[in-house]
Amino acid sequence: MIDTPFESLVTLYRTMDTAWNEIAAAYHFNCTGCADNCCKSLFFHHTYIERAYLCHGMNTLAHDRQKIILDRAKNYCQETFHQTAETKSLKIYCPANENHRCLLYAYRPMICRLHGLPHELSRPGLKPIISKGCAAGLFDSKPYIRFDRTPFYRQMAQIEMAYRQAGNKTGKIKETIAQMLLSQ
Ligand code: SF4
Repeated sequence: MIDTPFESLVTLYRTMDTAWNEIAAAYHFNCTGCADNCCKSLFFHHTYIERAYLCHGMNTLAHDRQKIILDRAKNYCQETFHQTAETKSLKIYCPANENHRCLLYAYRPMICRLHGLPHELSRPGLKPIISKGCAAGLFDSKPYIRFDRTPFYRQMAQIEMAYRQAGNKTGKIKETIAQMLLSQ
């Protein structure tokens, strides 16, 4: 049973997953992992509701498993965020990844779900920006199949706004999975 504050989010996640799977199937792309694993990318997430849902997922795990993930998250932050150096990807595995498997798969945020496929994003008054897919899919050798992230971003913004208003949350967030997990 899904908690009420997360119902809209979970519905949106399902829509994204369905769209992603359909486009991936049209490319005959089946992600089986690769050396350049996307769980080693330095991704930042920007929504309070996704952070809350991820932490909600974390709380469903056994305590000893949570502790292992949190220890990895601390190490991740210590290595990645040095006060004196520019923050850049060190290609460290996300702390939720274990043996190439996401332990928080059902609770992972939007960017984890949408990654991999070539896609486009439209902003008002500007031409759509088309971005490449991951190297594993060899998408450069295939004709582009339209995958527009814009409606997903728009719906996420609405869900986030409602969540912020209900919880009196203000201010921007920009956090990795490791930081999100350590925030609770
Ligand atoms: S949350 Fe899961 S899918 Fe996202 S980067 Fe971490 S291990 Fe990978």
